[in-house]
Amino acid sequence: MVAAAARARPFPLCTGIATVVRRRALTPRMARFTLQAPAFAELGVEQPGEILTLGWCDAGEELALPERGWRFPRGRPEQHWRNFTVRAHRPEAMEVDVDFFLHGDLGRAAAWAARAMPGETAGFAGPRLHWLPDLDAAWTLLAADETGLPALLAILETLPPGHRTIALAEIQDDDERQAVDCAADLDLRWLSRGGRPPGTTGVLADAVAALTPPPGPGQAWGGGEALAMRGVRDAVRAAGVRAARIDERPRVLEAPADARRRRVAGAAPQPSYPSTVRSSRSDAESGSSPNSSRPRRCRRRSQ
Ligand SMILES: Cc1cc2nc3c(=O)[nH]c(=O)nc-3n(C[C@H](O)[C@H](O)[C@H](O)COP(=O)(O)OP(=O)(O)OC[C@H]3O[C@@H](n4cnc5c(N)ncnc54)[C@H](O)[C@@H]3O)c2cc1C
Repeated sequence: MVAAAARARPFPLCTGIATVVRRRALTPRMARFTLQAPAFAELGVEQPGEILTLGWCDAGEELALPERGWRFPRGRPEQHWRNFTVRAHRPEAMEVDVDFFLHGDLGRAAAWAARAMPGETAGFAGPRLHWLPDLDAAWTLLAADETGLPALLAILETLPPGHRTIALAEIQDDDERQAVDCAADLDLRWLSRGGRPPGTTGVLADAVAALTPPPGPGQAWGGGEALAMRGVRDAVRAAGVRAARIDERPRVLEAPADARRRRVAGAAPQPSYPSTVRSSRSDAESGSSPNSSRPRRCRRRSQ
């Protein structure tokens, strides 16, 4: 049985402009941004790791916020929107923590995160459910690379004491390990890519394939680079585990040479992906994919 939060919820519940009030390094490649906005007092977050979609505009533009159903005001195209995880929410302080994986300065989000300091702003729209606990599951398997790690760690913090849990966290190298707060019966494995980029190794899928699933019904959740997560999904299916959700981020590819020359210095180039592939319960299902810069038909959606 999946928790009652599975009921339909409009998206976005809240939109606005948030201000960075704090920034701190968690690891060499992970930075925590504390964002503040009056709407965060009643953001409507119900589950760990909910998605907040953050937006930026190019220099000289004004950011257009989406309306319900991911519609934009007439004549205002969608700008640069990317999905992030609500790592922590403090309604009383009107604050949300978002952890950014600093993967360079080619992407719009990463370029902003590389430079943004307190006082900077970003648009927001959300939240959206990402993880729903299956109350019948005897055990839980979580698998993620760095872009899924904030959700994985947030989920771990809420699992019940003693609940058998295997967490596989793929990281660039051992400097990316983070402190973990978890009351569950946790088997946490940090899987280093040995300095190689995300999506170029099979470490996560291999680790899932090598597992002997614990007895009883289990649930699996994952999030990370598309190629890596496809391997994870195959291994989870082969083990006969119910996949609560396994998200694929856009494939991490080398940007074209001309995009590299135009490295971000305020306004970001938008190198395009050959495709944006998502799982069956992903953003694509609900008619919108904020991580894609392709134009799309907007429609009202719910979770
Ligand atoms: C549900 C969901 C939750 C997410 N939560 C988080 C989160 O909490 N924290 C977080 O940091 N990200 C998270 N992401 C990923 C985030 O939405 C962006 O995809 C990511 O930040 C890259 O965006 P960008 O604008 O920097 O790069 P893009 O413009 O999307 O890509 C430009 C180029 O950057 C490079 N690139 C892109 N992504 C990566 C990567 N992961 N590693 C190395 N190089 C890369 C590639 O060369 C790519 O061609 C989440 C995604 C989803 C779908």
